Amino acid sequence: MYTDLKEKTALITGSGKETGIGYAIAKKLASNGCHVILSDLGTPAEDHNGMRMGTREEMERLASGLAEAHGVKTLAVDLDVTSTDSVAAMIERILSEFDRVDLLFNNAGAVFGAPSTVHDYDEAAWLKTVDVNLHGVYRVSKAVVPLMQEAGGAIVNIASKAGKSPPLWNPAYAVAKAGVIMLTKVMALDLATQGIRVNAVCPGLIMTDLQDTRIRVEAEIFGTTYDEAKERLAKTVPMERLGSPGEVADLAVYLASARSSYITGQAVNIGGGIMMEV
Ligand code: NAD
Repeated sequence: MYTDLKEKTALITGSGKETGIGYAIAKKLASNGCHVILSDLGTPAEDHNGMRMGTREEMERLASGLAEAHGVKTLAVDLDVTSTDSVAAMIERILSEFDRVDLLFNNAGAVFGAPSTVHDYDEAAWLKTVDVNLHGVYRVSKAVVPLMQEAGGAIVNIASKAGKSPPLWNPAYAVAKAGVIMLTKVMALDLATQGIRVNAVCPGLIMTDLQDTRIRVEAEIFGTTYDEAKERLAKTVPMERLGSPGEVADLAVYLASARSSYITGQAVNIGGGIMMEV
């Protein structure tokens, strides 16, 4: 139990899908008595380059489930991190229900245009990938920090292994996530004396829809079944398995809690040993 999280308010971006890391974070926070604001695209269930995105119905259902199970306040709010207007509308909605935000988890992420090399990358897909994964973190953090400044707080950015070591054929995402790691560090410096800590987590291979898309693409490229492609991926991990969203949530929530009160500006790996460098 994290007793310091009780009665705090947390905003988690990209948390509207039950299978995702964002919802796993929200669930862990709510089970510790923290009020949670779920935010996601709230789109109709349509195809986004073969990726499943969060829908309003699912987000509403998850938010009311958490309120019922843990007796905390919850809110489900539409958010597109690529739109400054959408971020502003979300802040307005949050302020109609809460007077501050204590914890921010920048979790929304997506990949467009991969697999591709840099020289073949579609320009619109490149820009969109960087916009969601990097500029989205900037936009949301910029809007939320003022809501934290009076009471202090913590920001946890979900970066990636790809931001530290180059993956094959996923360059826009990797460049964006490397940017998130540096953004984490510059914000940690900016806010170090204001009682706001900023850290990142760098997951390796975690079994979510994002990973499912990758496994399907790799099965096609290598001409194997889905299960064979998944097994091949798992074998690249020293622990020989993919991680779960709950395992990433455990680390993210620790970094937001008072138990990590002297940790800021770090990008912590979580990947079953797939990354051993700092
Ligand atoms: P996911 O697809 O389940 O979750 C991503 C969420 O972000 C979705 O709910 C999606 O609707 C939302 N989203 C996408 N674009 C958005 C936008 N413009 N505005 C608001 N929300 C948007 O995948 P996940 O694996 O749970 O990913 C969560 C985070 O973890 C992402 O930042 C991802 O890059 C990162 N990550 C995942 C892995 C992995 O192996 N799954 C590894 C490293 C990092």
